[in-house]
Amino acid sequence: MRCLYCHGRADVEMNLLTLFAVPRSLCGECEIKIREWRRGKRCGRCHRLMDDREAECRDCLFISSRFRPVGKIMCMLDYNEEVKMLMHRYKFVRDVALAEVLSYFITFRQTEYDHVVPIPVSEQRFQRRGFNQVTEVLDRAGVVHSDMLETEKIKHQSELSKLERMNSSNPFTFNRAYEDVRLQGTRILVVDDIYTTGITVHHAAEVLLHHETEVVDVLTFSKA
Ligand SMILES: [Zn+2]
Ligand SMILES: [Zn+2]
Repeated sequence: MRCLYCHGRADVEMNLLTLFAVPRSLCGECEIKIREWRRGKRCGRCHRLMDDREAECRDCLFISSRFRPVGKIMCMLDYNEEVKMLMHRYKFVRDVALAEVLSYFITFRQTEYDHVVPIPVSEQRFQRRGFNQVTEVLDRAGVVHSDMLETEKIKHQSELSKLERMNSSNPFTFNRAYEDVRLQGTRILVVDDIYTTGITVHHAAEVLLHHETEVVDVLTFSKA
């Protein structure tokens, strides 16, 4: 069995317990490197690494001044050097097999939510990349998702300045295919790949909160 990340051998001791286990796609060494969180003071809400002088997280302060609050914000991984590389290979080199590696870190319980809603990618991006980086991971983790959000033309976040990002109007709309689904009082989990300023997921949550959901929690693969 080969590690999908370093392509080295991911040796698994064969015994009665591992014989029927799902084969691991990641070697132990890579897992440790990917799992590592950089040290430092963290925001208790969005998990951002903060300056020592920062009393309150400025990203969260901004978000709370502009958006309706979401429930909890969960991040599977830090954006350490290894994760940065992993994301780059996955999204830009289009090594789609790495979705398997990311799916390995998904731990939330599907039963806690009525709907798991991935952040959509534009048609243009989909054509270029060939896959949606969020649903690809959810599918491999066996998570059932409801693609309730759509986006027409969302500029790549890294193509926008921070100010542009903050001022851009909501790029998401509700997918009419879900019009008849009653969302009132439901628990929803929005999933994105990377949490940067939080604006993307809060725009997404805004569309869903509009339907009087009970709570919209957020899960991102990584916290930049
Ligand atoms: Zn490895
Ligand atoms: Zn924060």
